[in-house]
Amino acid sequence: MKILPVVLETLSITRVGTTGVYFDYSSADLVTYKIPLQINDENYYIPAISATSFKGLLRSVYERYLRKEKRGNVSGSGNQKVLENIKNLNYEERTLIFENLKEELEKYVYSGLIDKVGENLEEVFKQYLEITGYGIDKACYVTSDLDRCENLALIEDEKKRKLKEAWIKLTGRKNLCEVCKVLGTSGVRGFVKFTDLVAVDPFPVLLERITHVAINRITGTAEKGKLFTEEIIPAGVKFLGFLAVLEDSLTERVIEMLKVLRDKARKGEVWIGGRGSSGYGTFRLYIPGEVMEFNSVIFKGKFALNISEPREGLACERKIICKLFPETFINSLNLVTEGEVTFIVKVETGEEYEAKNGEELKEVLDKVKDKKYEIKIKGVWSLS
Ligand SMILES: [Zn+2]
Repeated sequence: MKILPVVLETLSITRVGTTGVYFDYSSADLVTYKIPLQINDENYYIPAISATSFKGLLRSVYERYLRKEKRGNVSGSGNQKVLENIKNLNYEERTLIFENLKEELEKYVYSGLIDKVGENLEEVFKQYLEITGYGIDKACYVTSDLDRCENLALIEDEKKRKLKEAWIKLTGRKNLCEVCKVLGTSGVRGFVKFTDLVAVDPFPVLLERITHVAINRITGTAEKGKLFTEEIIPAGVKFLGFLAVLEDSLTERVIEMLKVLRDKARKGEVWIGGRGSSGYGTFRLYIPGEVMEFNSVIFKGKFALNISEPREGLACERKIICKLFPETFINSLNLVTEGEVTFIVKVETGEEYEAKNGEELKEVLDKVKDKKYEIKIKGVWSLS
């Protein structure tokens, strides 16, 4: 088992508890909630991002990346050979898929993505790929009944199983796509477990309340006497969480997923706590290989976020952080002592930067944020 620590830092004010609209084919929102925590007979409510919500976001962002964005899966670049798979279907399978795809595409007519549904299987399959992406052999869309991978052995309905079998033939997938192989799907166990992401710095976070006047949507004027209050997490709050990868060989893949999410967040394409007004809920994600500084009463110092085995070692009595996470997970955060390590940031285009501490590293990463890069570490961590 490998433990992967992640830190999510809010860059703007963020709403608590708001669910956003979840669009199948665009980015999703993260839902925040508050966990009650009793410390020395005092009650605190600590904002957190639920494990399920973070997993859902990671998944949807990575699905979309494999389907539409990864080099080689983009429309028109020789990927259209997936269309030839239609030839492998028999008459019954063609009819079954045509009927179901037509139904799926009706939704897109309704939402204005296409003008009308095509007249034969070749046409509708092409329409479907244009909208959902040509990397269909690599990733399913888990929110679509038709498209998502399922455990065929558990499907009782004969017709539904035939449809799924035909879909696998058409898409060129193995039984499970590359995402479901890692994260699981209906009737299939996943290999990654997630903790909630909990606000650890500052601790406790003081939530602000903002009262708004309700605006009548039709007249555009303020409704007399109608006020609503939202709770707000300020900018600069760091949420800590962990992923446990149960199969070591899948670690690289999970890191790739995190990188894709990190880049999306950098571009401002995902939010926490509901979309709504622009500027709310933007964040930065820190993943293994990076260094994070904490400065709160429960967690202080510069820590390297490392991929590690679950380890005993932290004396956990009375430590609040150990009420929030399993002790063996927290040990994947390694305290960094200045001067013992150097970070080498290697950019895709060839340049190399050196950073001697976390702050310098942050500056370098800001400089190269629009490029692809990797971080190498010289020297030895001193372990806490
Ligand atoms: Zn799948």
